[in-house]
Amino acid sequence: MRRPVVIGNWKMHGSLKEAAALAAGIKRNLFDLAEVDIAVCPPFPYLLDVRDEIENSPVRLGAQDCYWEPKGAFTGEVSVPMLKDAGCAYVLCGHSERRHVLGESNEWVRKKVAAVLAGGLTPVLCVGEKLDERERWATEHVVREHVEEGMRGLSSQQAQDVVIAYEPVWAIGTGKTATPDQAQEVHAFIRKTLGRLFGEGAAQAIRLQYGGSVKPDNVDDLMSQPDVDGVLVGGASLDVESFTRIAKFRRKT
Ligand code: PEP
Repeated sequence: MRRPVVIGNWKMHGSLKEAAALAAGIKRNLFDLAEVDIAVCPPFPYLLDVRDEIENSPVRLGAQDCYWEPKGAFTGEVSVPMLKDAGCAYVLCGHSERRHVLGESNEWVRKKVAAVLAGGLTPVLCVGEKLDERERWATEHVVREHVEEGMRGLSSQQAQDVVIAYEPVWAIGTGKTATPDQAQEVHAFIRKTLGRLFGEGAAQAIRLQYGGSVKPDNVDDLMSQPDVDGVLVGGASLDVESFTRIAKFRRKT
């Protein structure tokens, strides 16, 4: 049985004070949630304060991005060892906003995933198609390429330490969620692709999250799909009560 994983991506929102209050509220509500892996990804300058707020709780810290070199003359970048030092357990790699707003390539994303694994943290490899790609029936093509390229060179053992987030770009921050069936269809396709790349055992062990306008009122249906092992949450993770309800999803049998 794959352990569920729920991650909040705070993006570039809020003040330091608001981030600390959000973290404290999440810790208060989720202090005894034992059966789900939970993490929050604040902006870089807030990592240490959020780390202090969530100390001694099941809530883990994540980063929204990283650079693949461990150190050096890379002005403005943050390395995996630095994130580890700051207390991070997870790092988002290739979020669609980085791919499509900041121009990150599959090759960059691959280097980031490899660097995060080498540093002993968990990469969350984000994959997903844009609206025009879905309309051209190119979803599988795009998602296959994101998975194959992002995980190229990994052993089947390493692959099992990656979390993959399927985030259709047309559903991020738009209020449009993929239906549970649409999410399941792509998740099943990703698992099939992973089986071809890393073997059936590894494919069954890798955790797949759905992301894209996940809210308290749609999380239960999404999490009831057999290949949806967790959710990556943007907007709704900025509200303590919404994120709490999402983390306490109820699977329908
Ligand atoms: C995200 O930031 O990864 C995301 C899915 O955002 P939202 O939940 O707001 O669509």
